[in-house]
Amino acid sequence: MKREIKIEIIAVGTEILLGDIVNTNAQFLSRELANLGISVYRQTVVGDNAQRILESFHEAFKRCDIIITSGGLGPTQDDITKEMAAKYFNKELVLHQESLNKIEDYFKAKGGELTKGNRKQAYFPKDAIVLDNHNGTAPGAIIEGENNKVIIVLPGPPRELVPMFKEGVLPYLKQFSEGVLYSKVLRIFGIGEGNMADKIKDILENQSNPTIAPYAKEMDVTLRITARAKDEEEAKLLIAPVEKKIRQRLGEDIYGEGDTTLENVVGEMLLNKKVTIATAESCTGGMLAARLINYPGISEVLMEGAVTYSNEAKVKRLGVKKETLDRFGAVSKETAKEMAEGIARTAGTDIGISVTGIAGPGGGTEEKPVGLVYVGLCIKGKTTVRKYNFQGNREKIRTRTVMNCLDWIRREVNKL
Ligand code: ATP
Repeated sequence: MKREIKIEIIAVGTEILLGDIVNTNAQFLSRELANLGISVYRQTVVGDNAQRILESFHEAFKRCDIIITSGGLGPTQDDITKEMAAKYFNKELVLHQESLNKIEDYFKAKGGELTKGNRKQAYFPKDAIVLDNHNGTAPGAIIEGENNKVIIVLPGPPRELVPMFKEGVLPYLKQFSEGVLYSKVLRIFGIGEGNMADKIKDILENQSNPTIAPYAKEMDVTLRITARAKDEEEAKLLIAPVEKKIRQRLGEDIYGEGDTTLENVVGEMLLNKKVTIATAESCTGGMLAARLINYPGISEVLMEGAVTYSNEAKVKRLGVKKETLDRFGAVSKETAKEMAEGIARTAGTDIGISVTGIAGPGGGTEEKPVGLVYVGLCIKGKTTVRKYNFQGNREKIRTRTVMNCLDWIRREVNKL
C-alpha cells in the first residue's frame, strides 16, 4: 500500500521577494505534481537568509512529508539552501567525488578558474541522492531525513530545474503516486462561461471522478475533465462518457481540444474542404490575416489579406462605392458588406471577410461608440453582416474582433 504524501514547495531567493523575477518554478513544480496525482499543500517564498530558510522548513514539515526547494545552490556565499537542509536534518556535508570531477571538467573545458564556491557545490549532506545537472554546475539532491521527511533541493534557473526534475525527481516521486491524474481540455468559444455552466449544470453538480473544471480565459472558455485512475488507459475510459454528454449539450460551441487554437481549427477546415478565402481589414489592420497565417499550409487557401484603412483604399482596392461611404460612413453595415464582396470578387475566392470598426481610444461618437465593429462575411456570393459592440481597450477590441471572425468562419465553413 502506498503512503499518501503531501508536498510543499519553497522557492528560495530574495530576487523573487523583491519582485525582480516571477516564481515560475513553483508553477512548473505544482503542475507536474498535480499530473502525478500528488497533493501540493502550500507554496512559500523565502529570501536567502539562513534563519528564515530553517524556519520555513520547520513550519512546512508540521504539515507535509516532502519539501521541494528551488534556488540557492550556486557557488556564492548567499547560496545556502543545501547547507540549511543538512543543518535541519543534522547531517554533515561530505564530498561527492563524482560531482567534483564533473565540475572540474566543466571548468577545464571552459578554461576558467575553479573557486572555493564551486568546490562547495560538490558537497552534499551524508547519504543524499545526488541529481546531475546537465545544464549548469550546481547538482541537486534528494535528502532523506528521519521520520520519512525528505527535502529535495533543485537549482533556481528553470533551464536547469526543469530537466533535473523530469530526470531525477519524477522517478523518485512515482513511488508515492497512486496511479495517474489524466486531463482532457475542451475549448469553447461563442458562449460565455456562465451560459456554458448553465447548459451543463447537472453534469457539473454531479461530478466526482472525473472532475470537471470550467475556466474562463481572456478569449475563450475551457473545460478541463480530469480523471484519477490506475493508468492513462483507464482514465481515458472514465473521461469518454462524460465528454460525450458535454459534447451533446454544447455542440458546435466546442471548437477544439487541448492546446489547439481557433486559427488551427479554421485553417484545417479550409484546407480539408478546399475553400479559398481573402480578408479586407480596417481596424484590425491585418491581425485576422496574421492569425490565419499562423496555420502552416494556409497558403493553399488564403489568397490575399488587404489592409484597407483609408476610405480611398476601400474604394480603390475593394470597389466600395464612394456614395456608400458618404451616406453611411466607413464603419457601417453597408460598407462592411461592400468590403467583403469586393475582396471576394477581386481576389477570386469562395469567402471574403471584412472588418470595419472603431477600436478607440478616440474616434467614438454617441451613435458610433468605441468598440462598434461590423464584420461582413461573403460566402459564395451571399453576404451577411454582423454588428458587435465590444468592451475594452484598443488591443482587446481588436483581438476580440479577430476571435469572433475566426469563430464565425469556423461555423459557416462547417456547414459547407
Ligand atoms: P546558480 O547556480 O545559477 O546560482 P541557484 O540554484 O543558486 O543557481 P539562484 O541563484 O537562486 O539559483 O537563482 C538563479 C537564477 O535562476 C535567478 O536569477 C533566476 O533567473 C532563476 N530563478 C531562481 N529562482 C527562480 C524561480 N523560483 N522561478 C523562476 N526562476 C528562478
